[in-house]
Amino acid sequence: MTDARDATGASAAIPTICHWIGGERRSSTSGRSAAVFNPATGAVSAHVALADQSDVDDAITSAERGYQVWKTYSIAKRQAVIFTFRELLNARKRELAEIITAEHGKVVSDALGEILRGQEVVELATGFPNLIKGGFSENVSTGIDVYSLKQPLGVVGIISPFNFPAMVPMWFFPIAIAAGNSVVLKPSEKDPSAAIWLAELWKEAGLPDGVFTVLQGDKLAVDGLLNSPVVQSISFVGSTPIAQYIYETASKNGKRVQALGGAKNHMLVLPDADLDLVADQAVNAGYGAAGERCMAISVVLAVEPVANELIAKVTDRIAKLRIGNGAGADGVEPDMGPLITDVHRDKVSSYVDIAEADGATIVVDGRGFTVDGHEDGFFFGPTLIDALPTTSRAYTEEIFGPVLSVIRVKTFEEGLNLINSGQFGNGTAVYTNDGGAARRFQNEVEVGMIGINVPIPVPVAYHSFGGWKDSLFGDAKAYGVHGFDFFTREKAITSRWLDPATHGGINLGFPQN
Ligand code: NAD
Repeated sequence: MTDARDATGASAAIPTICHWIGGERRSSTSGRSAAVFNPATGAVSAHVALADQSDVDDAITSAERGYQVWKTYSIAKRQAVIFTFRELLNARKRELAEIITAEHGKVVSDALGEILRGQEVVELATGFPNLIKGGFSENVSTGIDVYSLKQPLGVVGIISPFNFPAMVPMWFFPIAIAAGNSVVLKPSEKDPSAAIWLAELWKEAGLPDGVFTVLQGDKLAVDGLLNSPVVQSISFVGSTPIAQYIYETASKNGKRVQALGGAKNHMLVLPDADLDLVADQAVNAGYGAAGERCMAISVVLAVEPVANELIAKVTDRIAKLRIGNGAGADGVEPDMGPLITDVHRDKVSSYVDIAEADGATIVVDGRGFTVDGHEDGFFFGPTLIDALPTTSRAYTEEIFGPVLSVIRVKTFEEGLNLINSGQFGNGTAVYTNDGGAARRFQNEVEVGMIGINVPIPVPVAYHSFGGWKDSLFGDAKAYGVHGFDFFTREKAITSRWLDPATHGGINLGFPQN
């Protein structure tokens, strides 16, 4: 087994991915680093610097300087930079997709898909003047006007997970920057290069140095952001235990915080559903990106009598999936790539062991799966489990791999209750042609994002992204109007301009008109 953390530090032959501070690549003073792998080959492709406190301090000081410059930019000048960033991103997104595939493992077309969903937020952010303008009420009392301003927070922190190294940071930073803040991004140490590529793009787009900073690192870097009095807010996406820690620590330190956590997303299939459509979409949503999506479907709740037929259809489709290097070979792209590390692959495998030990049937077994020519890659085959007991940890915990479980239920109510009894509330989907049942589902299910005959209902940029329960700590969702509210603070001004004739004299009471 390879340890994702390389205690030996950087080797001369392998590049070191460093921070981006003050508009340039900056090496670390810490002497600490971690290995970055190409998950398809299992080879170490780079080392990433892991910040120490002095790197954290440099990053925050530079971001504070950047903020002082950026906040003086007019709306028109800020808008021009964001438009340029959008154009550069759109023109060069293939480069970024290949970087993502090389470190994350997902297939290139899927990496392009994540960039596109991030780009949507950049496009939303280009329209920021309309979303951060205040209001004006004239003559609220005689001669008195009230108006509001939305101002940036200052330096804001973003901490992102490995599974969307471009999209998740883009859920936040286009809006934060458009609103006049400066950003310190702490990407996942497992795939840190996308953040540096995005930083270089911002520079090319004309963003002043220090407004977008990348701080590479682990818990030490995260804690540095959480404990800094300069950092005004934290936007976090990752697993639930860390999300809870971030929420509690950042709140205790007086920061604004949004902390998105893990998930266990169910697809409820009613007997009237089109089972070919359901099977296609369960496979897409269960095995796409090797199940390493927070909106992946991991449980199919089949309202009987559909389970046997549905399992047969899903099994047929799994047999046709091509699994391999996400970068493709000879111009052909596979359907699914590897998992992020061998440590994670072994964890996914252990959940299949647990399901089996708890009495489930392993219909398709991905354990021990290898790809010819990539024997050291971190591959795990698509796995289908039937009759998973709801007491099994393979049901109650997030697996985050290409493992789809089927649970047979007798009624709509039984399925709905199962979804509502879970720890998470990120996404869910219902498959039916019955509008009344779908409407009841959307009304009664305790989940933040719901698909009706749509398997992965990630809201478009002008709505907002966020789950319920242990999938989101705090009440601030990502992007949309919520995003602009999160990254600004409001001032309300009550103003009276007196002319000499209307001086009112002394009056100690509450003014009434
Ligand atoms: P993770 O929680 O391990 O790491 C997320 C970030 O936190 C990384 O930047 C990491 O360096 C940092 N971190 C890790 N341990 C830490 C610690 N002890 N203290 C401080 N910081 C720490 O998550 P991951 O494995 O990178 O990503 C997968 C998880 O993210 C899954 O649970 C998935 O469901 C979740 N996720 C959720 C959403 C959502 O929108 N709700 C979206 C994407 C991913």
